[in-house]
Order: sequence, then structure tokens, then C-alpha cells
Amino acid sequence: MFPPSDVEELAALTSTLKRHLERRQRAGLHFLPKASPVLAQPVFRSEIANVMTGVELDMLAETSAAIHAASLDNLRSAIGDCQRCKLCAGRTNLVFGVGNPRAKLMFVGEGPGRDEDLKGEPFVGRAGQLLTDIITKGMGLRREDVYICNVVKCRPPENRNPEPDEVAACEPFLKKQIDIVHPDVIVGLGKFAVQTLLNSKVPISKLRGVWASYHGIKLMPTFHPAYLLRNPADKKLVWEDIKQVIRVMRGESA
Ligand code: URA
Repeated sequence: MFPPSDVEELAALTSTLKRHLERRQRAGLHFLPKASPVLAQPVFRSEIANVMTGVELDMLAETSAAIHAASLDNLRSAIGDCQRCKLCAGRTNLVFGVGNPRAKLMFVGEGPGRDEDLKGEPFVGRAGQLLTDIITKGMGLRREDVYICNVVKCRPPENRNPEPDEVAACEPFLKKQIDIVHPDVIVGLGKFAVQTLLNSKVPISKLRGVWASYHGIKLMPTFHPAYLLRNPADKKLVWEDIKQVIRVMRGESA
């Protein structure tokens, strides 16, 4: 018997391969190359390239423009009218990310909700307003000073958690976004984003407030603003986490 995580990974790989073959077929490629094509060397600024799985690099390579994207605009164009996973069926807009492409601080959430799907911008609903307050009132920054994006770029139906094959399809683009922006600090918002970034199953209640590393970039896990709307008493814990971020951004030790 395989452990459940292997079964999940195998299912994600199989589904990715199936979509890959279907896309080739739609593109009129009814054969597979005899040998692996020699792919152009991916352009990455950081060690993030070293942690991309073969499938992720293959998916990026499919759109060689994405692998070579030197800017967020190039990356967005390379993603195009994405059909790489089943979330495309229900979306109004693909929600790529917003903010300063050279931001020192990046926020990563889970995936767009209804408001974000309609507007095409991350964190613009009620949870987004709370995040904006944290950035502006709490940190004294403007939303335009930071960069905000999500693990998946299309809204999961009924705001359910993204499924493994959906994350597998979208995560290469998040990695490339992080590589391009190359922030000093990432704030991971909520269980899903943090567990995805850290490839961990440890509960967010244990991870939050403790500095972690995302391939050399400082990562502060904290609660999701939507969780805070339901549990306002925990806002003080998030404020503790944000104060740690402010200190590190000022050059004080973590
Ligand atoms: N929740 C998220 O995780 N991301 C958004 O963009 C909005 C709500």
C-alpha cells in the first residue's frame, strides 16, 4: 500500500500528464518526441529553480515564455487564457497579483474569492479590506508598496480549498512570481498558503509567529484575514506577527 501522500501525488501527476497530453492534442501534436527535447535553460534569479519539480519545470517549459519571463508582465502574458486546470471553467477573471513588482514585502493568500474573481484583483473583498488595513494602518505602507498574490489564480467553486492537481498546475507560477519580485520578506496568509509554501502539514496555529524560510527568503506565517473576521480575538496574535515583520524590514534582528 502506498501512503496517502504518495497516492495524492500520483493522482496529481497523472492528472497533470493527462492535461499535458490533451493540450498537445488540441495544439495538433498527435505524437510524442522520441527523445526529451532540449529545453532552453530556465531563467531564474534565485535558488527557487532548484526546488521546482520536473513536472513544474515541464509545465513552465510548455509555455517557454513563462520560463523566460523576466518581468511580471511577461509572466502574466505567458500564462494567457489559462486552461491548465479545472478551475478555469468557473472563473470570471484570472487573478494574477497586484502591487509593486520590486516590493520588499509580499503577501501570499490561498485563492481568489467571489469579489476577487469579479474584479480580477486579489484581496478586495471583506478579508481584503482587513488585509489592506493591516498594510496601511498597521504597517504604515500603501497597498501599492507591497506585492499581493495567491497560491491559485482562479476561484475554487464555493471557495473550497484548492485541490492538489490545481495547486500543482498553478504553483510554478507562484514560484516564478516570487523569483521575479524577490522580496525580503513573505507573509503567508493562513493555513493553506503557509502549508503550501512550506510543503508542510503542521497546523497554522503551530507555525504562526515563527520565522521560517522559503528557499532563503524570510517567511512569516500568520492567520488568514478571513479567519480573523470569524475570530476577531486572534487579531492581536496577527499584530504580534506583523510587528515582527516590521522589525525585520527595518533591519532589526528577527
Ligand atoms: N482570500 C484569499 O486567500 N485570497 C484572496 O485574494 C481573497 C480572499
